[in-house]
Amino acid sequence: MTNFPLPPNATIGLVGGGQLGRMSALAAARLGYRCHILTRETDSPAAQVSHAVTISDYSDPVSLRAFANAVDVISFEFENVSAEGLDLLASIRPVRPAPSVLRISQDRVDEKTFLNGAGVPTAPWAPVTSRGELTEAVHRLGLPAVLKTTRLGYDGKGQAMLRVPEDLDAAWEQLDPKPLVLEGFINFAQEISVVVARGADGSVSSFDTVENRHRDHILDVTLAPARISQAVDQAAQAIARRVVEALDLIGLLAVEMFVDSSGKVLVNEIAPRPHNSGHWTIDACPASQFELHIRAIAGLPLPPATRHSDAVMKNLIGPEGMALWPAALAEPGIIPHLYGKAAALPGRKMGHVTRLFPRGALPGEFGVDAALGVLAKG
Ligand code: AMP
Repeated sequence: MTNFPLPPNATIGLVGGGQLGRMSALAAARLGYRCHILTRETDSPAAQVSHAVTISDYSDPVSLRAFANAVDVISFEFENVSAEGLDLLASIRPVRPAPSVLRISQDRVDEKTFLNGAGVPTAPWAPVTSRGELTEAVHRLGLPAVLKTTRLGYDGKGQAMLRVPEDLDAAWEQLDPKPLVLEGFINFAQEISVVVARGADGSVSSFDTVENRHRDHILDVTLAPARISQAVDQAAQAIARRVVEALDLIGLLAVEMFVDSSGKVLVNEIAPRPHNSGHWTIDACPASQFELHIRAIAGLPLPPATRHSDAVMKNLIGPEGMALWPAALAEPGIIPHLYGKAAALPGRKMGHVTRLFPRGALPGEFGVDAALGVLAKG
């Protein structure tokens, strides 16, 4: 039996051993909790800073059962656990967010069906289960369009841009696993996101809307707050709140959105966990996204998600990112974070840096690069 709020020294089980688990575990430790990590990796960023670790495949019932029995509540930094695995965990301990929420976010078709059903706009889309359906979907949505796997896609993996009809065959062959989903291409003016926490009592704390810049489909820079109109901000915040409430989610939700050329806000995808676009909150807010995640799943009160500073966050990615680490340590005003990963493989998120500014002083287009100094080049 788990009683909420979790008392000090209770153990939080986190599925996944990456940097999101690491930063969640650090926040949990500050609140007097222990973390137990379930991960496949023998040397993981999260286990390095946690009380205990179970190293196992995410589908092994014996390990899942032992992990669940050793903890008081279970949450995630990695979402792709099988439906059977989730049900097994939930039969032993409270799982927050609930397995039903994870199932929706694991599948792009389920996610878009859910979002549209809740009155939340997305890019136009069509499910694609066969080559014939792809032709029909392109006929309906037009080109350009983006073809994506419904499951297991991240950081631009599992997607292909369709510009001309000749692109269809290769994209259909290349993308795996099937089925797929076709999305109309959004010629977006900006990409923005909102991270929102919700407690078991229904209380909601939402961080400010931020602006995200990607490079090679991977998040490069986040600007907090986003430089958007009040109307766009209100729309983004209202969408995040609507989604978290419609999901009846306990924990943390990140909502990634496009702002199209007419100022309309469309949801790209949702993630029921801490998010890379919320890392700035560690340094710029009294309570970070990781603290709010832990508070929500532990049943503690949720403080308002206010920021005391504006911020620019930049990811350190792969060997190029690691090459910037000495500069990140040497540059006054840069707040460095490293995730403890042994190998700097291309495209791998190794760490991030944050620079703070007084509220309202976030620099403009040229100022951001100037603010990051030598780190802007990475
Ligand atoms: P995703 O894996 O769905 O988050 O997509 C990764 C990135 O690809 C997004 O952040 C966008 O920059 C781009 N992208 C994805 N879907 C679309 C779309 N329908 N229209 C335009 N750009 C897209």
